[in-house]
Amino acid sequence: MIKDTPKKKTDLIESLKASNAKLQTEIRERKKAEKALQELVKTYQETSLKLRTLINAMPDIVCFKDGTGKWLEANKSMLELFDIEKVDYHGKSDAELAEISDFYQEAFLNCQHSDKQAWSKKSLSRGEEVIQKKDGTVKVYDVIKVPLFYEDGKRNGIVVLGRDITEQKQTEKVMMRLASIVESSNDAIIGNTLAGIIHSWNSGAEEIYGYSLSEVKGRSISMLAIPERPNEIPQILANITAGVGIDNYETVHLRKDGKHIDVALTISPIKDTQDNVIGVSTIARDISDRKQVEQSLEQLRYQHQLILDSAGEGICVIDRLSKISFVNPAAAKMTGYTIKELVNHDWNCIIYGDENKTKIYRTSTKKKSQACQFTTTLEEGIVCQVTDELFGRRDGSFFPVEYVSTPIVEQGKITGAVVTFKDITERLAVEQMKDEFISVVSHELRTPLSSIHGALGLLKSGLLNQAPARGRRMLDIAVANTTRLVRLVNDILDLERLHSHQVAMVKQTCNVSELMMQAVSEMQPIAEKTRITLSVKPIDTKLWGCADRLIQTLTNLLSNAIKYSPTGKTVWLTASKQRINQHQVDNSNNLTSGVQGDRAVAPTCIIDSGYQVVIIVKDEGRGIPADKIESIFGRFQQVDASDSRQKGGTGLGLAICRSIVQQHEGKIWAESTLGKGSTFFVTLPILD
Ligand code: ADP
Repeated sequence: MIKDTPKKKTDLIESLKASNAKLQTEIRERKKAEKALQELVKTYQETSLKLRTLINAMPDIVCFKDGTGKWLEANKSMLELFDIEKVDYHGKSDAELAEISDFYQEAFLNCQHSDKQAWSKKSLSRGEEVIQKKDGTVKVYDVIKVPLFYEDGKRNGIVVLGRDITEQKQTEKVMMRLASIVESSNDAIIGNTLAGIIHSWNSGAEEIYGYSLSEVKGRSISMLAIPERPNEIPQILANITAGVGIDNYETVHLRKDGKHIDVALTISPIKDTQDNVIGVSTIARDISDRKQVEQSLEQLRYQHQLILDSAGEGICVIDRLSKISFVNPAAAKMTGYTIKELVNHDWNCIIYGDENKTKIYRTSTKKKSQACQFTTTLEEGIVCQVTDELFGRRDGSFFPVEYVSTPIVEQGKITGAVVTFKDITERLAVEQMKDEFISVVSHELRTPLSSIHGALGLLKSGLLNQAPARGRRMLDIAVANTTRLVRLVNDILDLERLHSHQVAMVKQTCNVSELMMQAVSEMQPIAEKTRITLSVKPIDTKLWGCADRLIQTLTNLLSNAIKYSPTGKTVWLTASKQRINQHQVDNSNNLTSGVQGDRAVAPTCIIDSGYQVVIIVKDEGRGIPADKIESIFGRFQQVDASDSRQKGGTGLGLAICRSIVQQHEGKIWAESTLGKGSTFFVTLPILD
């Protein structure tokens, strides 16, 4: 065994000391390194925590997976999306998580599938993923997948980032829907700036105005205004700038082809989020068809109004409560009210007047008091035709009417009635006249017929065989009455034919003097028989007429003048030319005649212009009483009932004269002073 030397001992101690110092240094360095590492770990842990906090705070989903698709890290949003907050997802694949979370199975598998695609693409891929949540909501995510690789090309991991774009998608959907509404609208929807510059123009606008978007974009909306309304669009824009919208404003716009088009505009301001007006939206609806319908309706309404206004019959519309809702001018005129007075008033009160008065009137006129039948129309919906009713006037008087009431039925309900009525005063008067005429005619015919019958009967019986003088007298009576009968029948037929215009008036140019001379020569023998002097002063002027009929008129007047003049007197037939526009004495218009002193005269009227001839037949006979001066021109009208017997008249002569003169656009009338004589005037228009 080798013994240690002191040198060796010292060396060993030195070496141990050096090793110890080295060890100490190493220990210090290691401690330092450990401390640095601890600080690094701490920093890393702090950073990692911050990062995780940050990632967790993000609304977007974030997930890291390793190269085999196993989940390494996921943020809160991601865990919430798949409801796996409580699941330890670390190291689990999508397929494994799909098994754990049944509801999101499909979503996990889809995720796995899109991961695969991203791996194979080897670059960032982006797509939308739709995920249905348990609460029924559907989420849409814009997902970005970034595959990571090692340098040698092996898969390292994948980063999944996703943003919730559900709201954005919904907004887009709404916007698209709105855009499609705008586009599919038949109305023109136009967007323009406050200065009126067009920036949007839908297909409805193209259809209505004929311009395409490219033709109008950037141009002023004033291009749609018609030249007659230059201030309209500036005014509208000014209103919109002031924040005032315009609703359903009807105007006329100009189309591309230059045609005018009726449009209804709804114009609204477009505002930004701060409520500032930044533009104008104009919706224009083509109302040409409506306008045309309105125009047609207006035309129809006008026509109906015209028909109602010009109808001769009174027309009233009455509501269910007997209130007048419409009345035409004829109804107002007949009843003496104004239309305004009648509308909204009670039909019974106004038309039937005061109930008491009506009763008194009806009793006094011996009319049967009948209940107003038109109420059955209102109550039962029956059309009533009444021919003998009385309606009241405003002044309390009544007039006879015939009326028809027709129910107004709307949707099966009686809502009122239309009453059309006619004033039958004139018709009743004509009917009365006819009755009187028939009784007079039958009486006039019966008298001579009875005489003839009596005379012939006596002759036939042979009783007068022994008395030839009496027999002859009977024959004379029969002949005279036959003559009268023939004359009467002829006159009646004549008058009737004249009135019904059955007599052909062969009109030609006639010389008035020739007509006068002809009439005088016809009457001369009769005048001579009664020793009446006929004094004629003809006038040489021409007129357009029927010579035979005019001569018939003059001979009839002369015949009367001779008939009613005492023997030895004179009858004058004179004529003169006269301007028409001077006051004429005229009794031919059924106006009331008057009396001036003891002179009976006719009322006056003014005739317009030109010349006429006035033919005058004047006598010095018995005259005509004032109250008969007009009536003698009526049928069977005689001053004295004995005139027909004594003078052989029929009472029809003057009626025939008036008819003839009227058919020549002339007038006939008489003036007379009782006991002094009569003057008959005939005026006829003459040829230029
Ligand atoms: P008549 O055939 O009876 O003469 P008219 O119609 O010619 O019928 O005359 C009607 C009535 O007028 C006559 O019956 C007579 O009473 C009256 N009359 C007509 N002309 C005259 C006259 N010139 N003078 C007086 N009375 C007259």
